[in-house]
Amino acid sequence: MHKILIVAGDGIGPEIMDATMRVMEWFRRKRQFDFVVEEGLLGGCAYEKQGRPDPEETIAKALSADAVLLGAVGGPQWDSMPFELKPERGLLRIRKSMEVFANLRPAICFEALANASSLKPEIVSNLDILIVRELMGGVYFGTPKEITPLPGGGKRAVDTQVYTTEEITRVAHVAFRLAGRRNRRLTSVEKSNVMMTGVLWRSVVTELHRAHYQDIALNHMLADSCAMQLVRNPHQFDVILTDNLFGDVLSDEAAQLTGSIGMLPSASLGAEIGGRARGLYEPIHGSAPDIAGKDMANPIASILSFGMALRYSFDRADDADLMNQAVAASLGEGYRTADIMQPKMTQIGTGQMAAVILRSLDRLID
Ligand code: NAD
Repeated sequence: MHKILIVAGDGIGPEIMDATMRVMEWFRRKRQFDFVVEEGLLGGCAYEKQGRPDPEETIAKALSADAVLLGAVGGPQWDSMPFELKPERGLLRIRKSMEVFANLRPAICFEALANASSLKPEIVSNLDILIVRELMGGVYFGTPKEITPLPGGGKRAVDTQVYTTEEITRVAHVAFRLAGRRNRRLTSVEKSNVMMTGVLWRSVVTELHRAHYQDIALNHMLADSCAMQLVRNPHQFDVILTDNLFGDVLSDEAAQLTGSIGMLPSASLGAEIGGRARGLYEPIHGSAPDIAGKDMANPIASILSFGMALRYSFDRADDADLMNQAVAASLGEGYRTADIMQPKMTQIGTGQMAAVILRSLDRLID
């Protein structure tokens, strides 16, 4: 029996998580996916009820769960809180506690939404890229990290980009293995022309490839060139492996290829323990306070995040594919939430989108 922790969070979090749980129930009833659910508080709602955004109880539940599904945290009412009490602190804490160092972001363009991209449909149509971003190292965490006053006025700011062989190796293993389950192509991205971390990154990935993954086609690309190639010819990519900073930027760029932020899931994986990696699954969007409580939120990013859990935490690739097909079919029938609304389509709310996806799932297994 799988144990899944549900952390709905703030804003639209509870709405999209309700929709996702309806889909989870379908997999229990129709696909013999047995699970028990626990719930945990995180973010602003946790602060309101327990006085802190990252309750120990939630962290402990996350560490003992087989997978964690997270909605979103944050909202304007907590914006002026000190950093330690801000909702986002809960997010950082749960990621850090779970030691999820590999952030997977698929950029999939559903055929029915190819027209919604800011690029020409022929460039994004049927796009399916997976970006693997290192999540726990690099310039966001390296020290020194400070702003110091300069004599005579002005200031000096320093961020430090640091990577060790071990940090690069563990995330590269994840990327190579994922490429092996897809189209066997991996592009490793850094700036080895100007950064020492890039030099180390390239040599570690090259050595790993030579020693363990010669069946995967590996190429190296500089981050600036990758940014350009992503909008010029994104179909050339299968899996992209990159560091925390470049991954932050490139995955947002890739996201834009596919249309709305409400469509994009993510998975963050940790080291394998007992044959299974820790997994935290969440949409890439935030808590969208501007539309919270209005039945306008697109639940697809959250539902597809559950699909990623089926694939990466529960080894149910067929069910994950089914999930994607059901979303594609629902969009193909013309159903849209407000964020992806197009002329002549049928606009529906959060709960209705879940119902449409359930109907598509039923039809797919008939
Ligand atoms: P956001 O992603 O919440 O919203 C950006 C825009 O996209 C808004 O117009 C919103 O209505 C829309 N949007 C987002 N998700 C949508 C969905 N599922 N369906 C339809 N429309 C959707 O980003 P923001 O406005 O910059 O941040 C709002 C709050 O969320 C802030 O407190 C921020 O700190 C927090 N945040 C949390 C996370 C997270 O929990 N992982 C990530 C980003 C931002």
